[in-house]
Amino acid sequence: THQVHIIGGGLAGSEAAWQLGRRGIRVRLSEMRGGGDTTPAHQGDGLAELVCSNSFRSDDDTANAVGLLHHEMRQCNSLVMRAAAEAQVPAGSALAVDRDVFSAHVEKALTELPTVEIVRERVDVLPTDGLTIVATGPLTAASLAESIGGATGADSLAFFDAIAPIVHRHSVDMDVCWIQSRWDKKTEASNEDGDYINCPMNKEQYLAFRQGLLDGEKTEFKQWEADTPYFEGCMPIEVMAARGEDTLRFGPMKPVGLDNPHDRTPEFPQGRWPYAVVQLRQDNKLGTLWNMVGFQTKLKHGAQVDLFRTIPGLEQAEFARLGGLHRNTFLNSPRLLDRQLRLKSAPHIRFAGQITGCEGYVESSAVGMVAGMMAAAELAGENWTSPPPTTALGALLSHITGDAEAESYQPMNINFGLFPMPEEQVHKKARKAFYTERAKRDLSAWLGTAQPVPA
Ligand code: FAD
Repeated sequence: THQVHIIGGGLAGSEAAWQLGRRGIRVRLSEMRGGGDTTPAHQGDGLAELVCSNSFRSDDDTANAVGLLHHEMRQCNSLVMRAAAEAQVPAGSALAVDRDVFSAHVEKALTELPTVEIVRERVDVLPTDGLTIVATGPLTAASLAESIGGATGADSLAFFDAIAPIVHRHSVDMDVCWIQSRWDKKTEASNEDGDYINCPMNKEQYLAFRQGLLDGEKTEFKQWEADTPYFEGCMPIEVMAARGEDTLRFGPMKPVGLDNPHDRTPEFPQGRWPYAVVQLRQDNKLGTLWNMVGFQTKLKHGAQVDLFRTIPGLEQAEFARLGGLHRNTFLNSPRLLDRQLRLKSAPHIRFAGQITGCEGYVESSAVGMVAGMMAAAELAGENWTSPPPTTALGALLSHITGDAEAESYQPMNINFGLFPMPEEQVHKKARKAFYTERAKRDLSAWLGTAQPVPA
């Protein structure tokens, strides 16, 4: 019999199985594809199938957050990184693969491990006991999603992401914007000055911006996404703009109660209200990332950058994430999971991969890898120490398991905005190299304690 049950043989589940199986721990890996089921995005039955692009993005591990994550996963003898090396195709500084070779390599490596049993079956209910890792991904089968929703509360399991763009705080022009909450309202959690960064627009700017939303190039829903009924709750900003000239001004761009200190007159010594406003709200505890409130959108990424940089104060904005809207099953992890990815209400169950609210092939694999390492430590009765938050693995993990704001939690790629700020003054141009060097140093120290699987 198995010691750990992994549900889902995608990227995260395969990586977790490798980490456990290589340590001699007996694993049952349940994958529904090949057992008479599939998802709307997968084409075949292979483990770790890449459903869309064949790229793991930048492989630059000197100044790029995802490249750094590659490095850290390699240091932990990740199966996904090993298979990617076997399957690599030329792609400049990116790490791209032949998807069939990649999947076949993952499957072969796991099949050859005597400790891993791959079972082609769909799991419909969360196991009531036994160490379990749920890695069923963004397109988790409906029956299991229902069971998960039952365990977490329906409010904490989303079926669509509604991604508003996120801006790096340091790239916002505060000579144009200001910080204030509407009517200066405060809660206990509030900051002294207010909770929102406000970007003011006059009438002309607002009308041009609305027109830009209407004219901008959009991505289409896939048929199976358009057929999914969960979508009403998260209306794209451009759909709202199309409803009428002032709809946005009465919605997310409402300017009332916001006194622009850069526009003071004798009549309005506090500052006048702008005609419309774009509000940014803090997105992580570090205060480095701020999301554009209500700006989930199907605009193409290039069109978003062009249009959102016309917003006063965001001319130089650097985006940690652009907006989107997709079918995506994910948990409100900061609320539900402990620091070891365990369901607080049922700690024998760990979650891994995209269902935890990370985003992307590499991130999903990384969280699967760490989940496997955590489960191994738990079985061995060892105290688990997480990778430090200054590493890419640690930064991603901290974000998912508590540092992200639970209220606005949406899927997130790895990016330097998740890392603690430099302890000392570092020039903007040198910042990425600084984060990378610090991460590599701190990862090495951590690896001494974490005992990665043998190469
Ligand atoms: P998956 O790789 O999806 O693995 C989950 C596995 O669980 C699947 O094999 C599924 O068959 C199985 N499963 C589900 N339910 C059950 C069940 N009840 N019982 C047993 N097995 C089950 N990321 C990128 O970096 N680049 C991209 O180009 C990209 N494109 C994407 C396109 C689409 C349409 C989607 C939906 C996502 C995309 N992603 C992309 C995001 C994400 O990184 C991938 O979905 C990634 O595969 C997630 O890894 P995972 O292991 O969490 O889930």
